[in-house]
Amino acid sequence: VSYSPDEVFSRIQHEGIQFIDLQFTGLTGHFHHTTISANTFTPEQMRDGLPKLDGSSIIGFTSIDDSDLLLKPDPNTFAIIPWMTENKTARLLCDVYWGENRGRLSRDPRGISQKAEEYIKTQGFDFSTWGPEVEFFVFDKVHWDVLTPYKGQSYSIESKEAPWNQSGDGYPMGLQEGYYPSTPADTLTPYRNECVNILNKNFGILCDNHHHEVATAGQCEIDIKYDYMTNAADAAQSYKYVIRNVAQKYGKVATMMPKPIAMDSGSGMHVNVSLWKGTENAFYDPDDEIELSQLGRYFCGGIINHAKALSAICNPTTNSYHRLVPGYEAPAYIAWSSGNRSAIVRVPKHLKGKNYANLKRLEFRAPDPSSNPYLVFAAVTAAGMDGIKKKMDPGDEVRDDIFKMTKSDRNKRGIGVLPKSLGEALDELESDRKFLNPIYTNDVIDKIIELERRDQREISIRPHPHEFYLYFDV
Ligand code: GLN
Ligand code: MG
Ligand code: MG
Ligand code: MG
Repeated sequence: VSYSPDEVFSRIQHEGIQFIDLQFTGLTGHFHHTTISANTFTPEQMRDGLPKLDGSSIIGFTSIDDSDLLLKPDPNTFAIIPWMTENKTARLLCDVYWGENRGRLSRDPRGISQKAEEYIKTQGFDFSTWGPEVEFFVFDKVHWDVLTPYKGQSYSIESKEAPWNQSGDGYPMGLQEGYYPSTPADTLTPYRNECVNILNKNFGILCDNHHHEVATAGQCEIDIKYDYMTNAADAAQSYKYVIRNVAQKYGKVATMMPKPIAMDSGSGMHVNVSLWKGTENAFYDPDDEIELSQLGRYFCGGIINHAKALSAICNPTTNSYHRLVPGYEAPAYIAWSSGNRSAIVRVPKHLKGKNYANLKRLEFRAPDPSSNPYLVFAAVTAAGMDGIKKKMDPGDEVRDDIFKMTKSDRNKRGIGVLPKSLGEALDELESDRKFLNPIYTNDVIDKIIELERRDQREISIRPHPHEFYLYFDV
């Protein structure tokens, strides 16, 4: 959808909108809003921005001594929020600017993905498309002692039995047995249908598919149609907003935490990307065995080459690294493949031939939904473009299950290992950060490192609950 400012104002009037939520995303991916009365909203405010933001109170934005920011609404993002029934409310996503005509806040993530879209154009392409597959958990309630098992619960790394069962009602599912169960075992079908309806009707976000995911306890995925980079990141943020709010309506909670349950699958945010010149998908080559162009291979080479540094942006929480372990369809090793889901980059090969040229894409499987989609898409762009510029060879496709390989098998094939912790990922980003510079300022990279180091330190100084089980009686 695209709306002119005039159209937005006439919709506000015709729909009887009382309040407008001005929404934006912080550097760490958190979604924020402030609410204005619709009857005070003017075309000038839409054009010049609203002086409604103290940047020092948003993590990663500004210091306290220079903190006056403007929110500039993007009319294209107008959407009516259907669960706000008492007072009719619409939202607008905003770009963040400094006051006093000092330009865009360089730490505004939406600005970073817009910059990435411009960068792609300077490199001889017209646009890129992005299809994020966001997975998440829906819990009835958060029982912390169940989610982080300790106190010697009766299952171990070898056991497949889950000590809880969200699907309940006599249709038990074990750990990693949640993929595509039919109703009534899949109790969340009405919930996901409702999310899809709202995304479609209210937010203009097309969803082609939704399903229960592999993990036993309420893991879901709703797939949204690919779109231009910033639109797709906007859509991912709106998606998280919708699934959280609809869950609340059902008396449940939705979480994008990558690995809430020990020994079950985590949640990923696989990112499907392709690069375009006019109407031509630059990743498509009908003469190649897997229909992947040389250019697509170089882009893949860039991702493979910078995969360790990318982790700090695509897997930005300490919890992310509990997901990136072998055995759960999440990547742990750095290799690419068609078909093989143990590789970090997959080139899906369901459908072949010219009719499907527009679907030829790389699926980057490392990112998880605790990441900031604007930053992820921009960083993957930087890596891929570096690969194209330097003709980076991604190496041979790996067709075997990497999880079953020994260390020496992997070494022989030159398959690297992803960082095992946030600390390690940050070390990698510190030593391999230049490739980001066409899009990321050094200030932004420094800030990301500073904020993530803080989380990493907070966790490293605290005993883990499971350590009481293992060590209390030593
Ligand atoms: N949950 C898996 C991950 O962590 C993906 C599973 C799937 O989509 N088949 O990436
Ligand atoms: Mg999927
Ligand atoms: Mg999935
Ligand atoms: Mg996928």
